[in-house]
Amino acid sequence: NFKTDLGQHILKNPLVVASMVEKAALRPTDVVLEIGPGTGNMTVKLLEKVKKVIACEIDPRLAAELQKRVQGSPLQSKLHLMIGDALKTDLPFFDICVANLPYQISSPIVFKLLLHRPFFRCAVLMFQREFAQRLVAKPGDKLYCRLSINTQLLARVDILMKVGKNNFRPPPKVESNVVRLEPKNPPPPINFQPVPEDLDMREKAIDLLQKNDFEKKRARTMDIDDFLELLRCFNKEGIHFA
Ligand code: SAM
Repeated sequence: NFKTDLGQHILKNPLVVASMVEKAALRPTDVVLEIGPGTGNMTVKLLEKVKKVIACEIDPRLAAELQKRVQGSPLQSKLHLMIGDALKTDLPFFDICVANLPYQISSPIVFKLLLHRPFFRCAVLMFQREFAQRLVAKPGDKLYCRLSINTQLLARVDILMKVGKNNFRPPPKVESNVVRLEPKNPPPPINFQPVPEDLDMREKAIDLLQKNDFEKKRARTMDIDDFLELLRCFNKEGIHFA
């Protein structure tokens, strides 16, 4: 009776749970945000290690089950349950984020986290393997894309481990990877501003690429420094990106 449209594949292997918790390098004073706690297999392990766990779960049935799981135990007072869609919720302050999420919301969650302020220390997140590989892809890699660039502008990204589909119940169709994101603090100095409507952007962009020796370069082989340099060139001409 799990809802697969909500990506309800419960992580059943305690070794994977323990490993994710360990990689989060928790401190006893930490506030942890867990997105999509499900039945709470990871939540109880987190509660044993930190000051407070804020668990955001969209499905009230699972939230109730998790509440029942800690009821009457010393862990109960450390658990703060938020019932709702993590994408639509104003996230509170947290030091560390852990999540085993439905894969269809991977991209919006990554950017919601990376734009969250104040900064958090790191996030340990489970993703579909190909998504994880796109997050860490480097210039020239087959999977290097806009997601790689935008993520690596804002964070250090590492793949921590591979997780096969049989570690979940029910097993999903795809393999998974656990990824660590560490926000870059301070973030790179990029000015996000709207562009005037009447601008011939194509002409302006080509002119700008030629003037700054970028016309022969290709996006798939450019690294973060190249992109920052390109952004600087645009910014110098008064063009900022929203
Ligand atoms: N963390 C649990 C585990 O590892 O066993 C469950 C993982 S399951 C892959 C995903 C969980 O995220 C489910 O409990 C699902 O109900 C919840 N969920 C799905 N979409 C969500 C959203 N937008 N906001 C918060 N939770 C969500």
